Amino acid sequence: TVLRWKQDVGRKMNVSLMKSRAYRQDRVFSKIQECIQKKDRFLITTHVNPDGDSVASVLVFAFILKKLGKEYIAVLDDTIPAKFDFLPEIDECIRFDRGDDRFNADVFVVLDASALERIGNVREALSSQMVVINIDHHLGNEGFGALNAVDTEKSSTVEIVYDLLSAMQVPVSAEIATLVYTGIMCDTGRFRFPNTTASSLAVCTEMVKMGVSPNAIAEHIYSRKSVDNVRALAASLSTLESHFDGTVSCIHLQNGMIPPGVKTDTEGFIDYLLTIEGVEVGFFMLEESPRCFRVSFRSKRYVNVNEVAKRFGGGGHSRAAGCRMEGSVSEVKVKILNTLRPFLCKETAG
Ligand code: 5GP
Ligand code: MN
Repeated sequence: TVLRWKQDVGRKMNVSLMKSRAYRQDRVFSKIQECIQKKDRFLITTHVNPDGDSVASVLVFAFILKKLGKEYIAVLDDTIPAKFDFLPEIDECIRFDRGDDRFNADVFVVLDASALERIGNVREALSSQMVVINIDHHLGNEGFGALNAVDTEKSSTVEIVYDLLSAMQVPVSAEIATLVYTGIMCDTGRFRFPNTTASSLAVCTEMVKMGVSPNAIAEHIYSRKSVDNVRALAASLSTLESHFDGTVSCIHLQNGMIPPGVKTDTEGFIDYLLTIEGVEVGFFMLEESPRCFRVSFRSKRYVNVNEVAKRFGGGGHSRAAGCRMEGSVSEVKVKILNTLRPFLCKETAG
């Protein structure tokens, strides 16, 4: 495996020894700590279409800054799904607005985003005199920051932020514990994906010892859906198709399939595809606006869907990735199937 702790923009440092990795992590963390101590105003952001890990990472970072008496603003170029409304201080995350003049900062903190494009219009608030801190666990992260804590071996970005917090000896409050647990639970697909590791479970165990209720958090996030949302799931599943002898399965949700004005949270729809025996790759095409699709990919064992998504300008992880594509459902589907074909041969798969 390639372990990466990058300290300089553009310079690749591949270190394969655990000892060296820990050493690099210490150095990056002490540099980030130094930066936090020296600077006063921080802007914290994450990727559009936020998930549990990205939201939790932003809020835990905000707690660190609050503890140290720093000025900060947490801003996203998106709305936050209602299922996260129980998270401590969630109202501190504001939606990016061009006209807002509060976004002047000394430090620009980007969490859980493999590239600056992923933060959407928040990029407009970035100026050359700001120090960029990049904390992430995505495969494609090339280290766009001045300080980069990138570890693709970590289950989630919040696990890295938690390590930073521990290195800085910031005490873990009940709020922080809730956030860390939630971020890891979400990014590991409720402790099922291959990033469910001894270390991610150990961190969660610590959080539960601090009083976090796994049952209450799971219920907040996964058991408060609307009837319309479940109907949207039913409509998507009714489009199920199987390709390449059952190794690829796909669904879609497009305009007209659900009543106009119904807001659906489609996270988890794609999971049903991988419950099918023999399916290696599942993909879900969601029409966000006419002929514009957000595509999600998941794989079980050997297809590197990060590589597949990259062909369409997206990215992610080897077993979960996404991209945006234009066209009709069938045009998008055909492009994806043609691209997938060579990946389905085990010998060439990565
Ligand atoms: P999801 O399918 O849950 O939206 O995303 C799965 C993974 O792929 C996440 O780690 C997410 O950050 C990444 N991802 C999703 N869409 C895009 C995209 O358009 N570009 C990039 N670079 N990554 C994406
Ligand atoms: Mn993440």
